[in-house]
Amino acid sequence: MKEVEILVIGGGPAGLSAAAAVANLGCDVLILERDGKLGGQLIKQTHKFFGSKKQYAGDRGYQIGDLLIEQCSTNSKVEVWSGATALGIYEDGVVTVEKDEKHLKIKPQKIIIATGASEKMIAFPNNDMPGIYGAGAVQTLMNVHGIVPGQRVLMIGAGNIGLIVSYQLLQAGVEVAAIIEAAPTIGGYLVHASKIRRAGVPILTSHTIQEAYGKESVEGARICKLDENWQAIPGSEQELNVDVICLAVGLSPLTELCFQADCQMNYIPELSGHVPLRNDYLETTRPGLYVAGDVSGVEEASSAMVEGRLAGVSAAYSLGYGQDVAPQLQTEALAELSELRSGPAGQKTVQGLKKLMEKGEAVC
Ligand SMILES: Cc1cc2nc3c(=O)[nH]c(=O)nc-3n(C[C@H](O)[C@H](O)[C@H](O)COP(=O)(O)OP(=O)(O)OC[C@H]3O[C@@H](n4cnc5c(N)ncnc54)[C@H](O)[C@@H]3O)c2cc1C
Repeated sequence: MKEVEILVIGGGPAGLSAAAAVANLGCDVLILERDGKLGGQLIKQTHKFFGSKKQYAGDRGYQIGDLLIEQCSTNSKVEVWSGATALGIYEDGVVTVEKDEKHLKIKPQKIIIATGASEKMIAFPNNDMPGIYGAGAVQTLMNVHGIVPGQRVLMIGAGNIGLIVSYQLLQAGVEVAAIIEAAPTIGGYLVHASKIRRAGVPILTSHTIQEAYGKESVEGARICKLDENWQAIPGSEQELNVDVICLAVGLSPLTELCFQADCQMNYIPELSGHVPLRNDYLETTRPGLYVAGDVSGVEEASSAMVEGRLAGVSAAYSLGYGQDVAPQLQTEALAELSELRSGPAGQKTVQGLKKLMEKGEAVC
């Protein structure tokens, strides 16, 4: 059994920032990453990030990932196991891991879960046909492996992910027939939507998919317009010849390990699904278990990094490290989170966190 002071599960922006913060306070930390590479979502983000300079706004996502990986790889207090999937967290605090086809056990003193999120799916006839992808899969294919998914794409979802992946498809020479969005307004940033429209791609709000069709793989899709009650308007159907349908319909926090560790969970739509109840320092109802990043509520890489730092400092502080600096670092991280969430895009998160806190108070 391997013993470690702090175990971080997930090597995305939240997990890497957590590990760097732990190590900077002189505490040993092990990162588990199920993928072969560290970086999480960042490794496939070729666009420049928004936000504040403190969270590397203006840099491209993969460049931010490289910076975070460097911060960890140059610190001797950080150990990394890549290709290592955390399978379970048990009552006695043991974490089981699958790595190189072996089943291993780790006994950490504190755990930070930073497993990110998974893509949502929507129901329509033939939604399991080859040629139907999640937006994350399309990004991984194109930006990590250099493979285009097809020739002509229907994008479903006009949030930031749908808009950005559509633009990246165009950059890769793939035609985007249309972006459809069931809501009456575009959810993503106007700057992304304007770029897409300038490239001649229609963004059809109040539209949904009714069916995908094709013999062995996608050959087309039928879409239709929705009325104010989200019902299909008869006669508004259109057929689109496409060989790829890409779903960018949201993410859900990847919380299986939190459920399994018996953290108290709550369904908060504003945070995109079930999330663990936690205190200001991101410690859950299971003492010594912290969360950070999309697993605690889907947001952005900027807040994931700050939450990672806050969870890392708090976990190390609880083991006696950084007694002189940790409270100040916690205060700074909390202030950064409030600033990040103060704009219109952060209001949903603020409402979600308020609901979560109210549920927590009801339990106490
Ligand atoms: C198309 C797109 C565009 C985006 N654009 C922006 C933007 O412009 N600005 C911005 O701030 N944010 C952006 N984001 C959001 C940002 O990428 C995420 O919010 C951020 O990556 C979340 O960080 P995370 O560390 O919580 O999760 P992730 O980056 O998802 O990392 C989680 C890691 O945990 C690993 N993992 C999961 N389960 C296990 C397990 N059981 N064992 C071991 N490892 C595990 C995963 O393999 C993954 O590497 C974008 C996202 C997408 C998809």
